[in-house]
Amino acid sequence: KRGFYIGRFQPFHLGHLKVIGEIAKQVDELVIGIGSAQLSHTPDNPFTAGERIMMISRSLKGLDLYYYVIPISDIYRNALWVAHVRSMTPPFSTVYSNNPLVSRLFREAGYEVAYSPMYNRHEYSGTEIRRRILAGEAWETLVPEAVVEVIREIKGVERLKAVSVKGD
Ligand code: ATP
Ligand code: MG
Repeated sequence: KRGFYIGRFQPFHLGHLKVIGEIAKQVDELVIGIGSAQLSHTPDNPFTAGERIMMISRSLKGLDLYYYVIPISDIYRNALWVAHVRSMTPPFSTVYSNNPLVSRLFREAGYEVAYSPMYNRHEYSGTEIRRRILAGEAWETLVPEAVVEVIREIKGVERLKAVSVKGD
């Protein structure tokens, strides 16, 4: 059985890792979609698709799961979006998502959609982690160690601050 899980992963955090760990018990293979893959260098989407691939594949090292990481660009046409995803991914039968629109679009297309529970959502949240990085607060405990390393390598903190400066 092959599953599908999609997120923007800006950045990949411990909530995502926990979800994938749970999905891994239920599937033989997992297709991980990187949504809004074309976006980077903005306050809400600081990291490139390639950098997000690094975060994910380094964080999943050691997990007993065969997976694919596939960048998916936005097409701004919800009625065609499932076909767009399918055109980029290995075939899958089950979609794991909490996102209401993602769930709806796949259900309407005839897919089995499984809900994954939220883990420590106040802290394990991309929005919260980006806020803490900008505020100079501690964020490193909310992401896998590998993600701290990737963000250090690409000077991600400096980048997020620079692209969030208003008025120039
Ligand atoms: P942002 O705040 O930037 O939207 P996010 O934390 O919601 O970031 P996404 O990349 O949007 O992360 O999430 C991808 C998928 O992971 C979504 O289906 C989302 O609901 C789910 N998810 C996000 N955080 C958690 C969490 N703490 N526990 C379980 N699932 C989560
Ligand atoms: Mg989200």
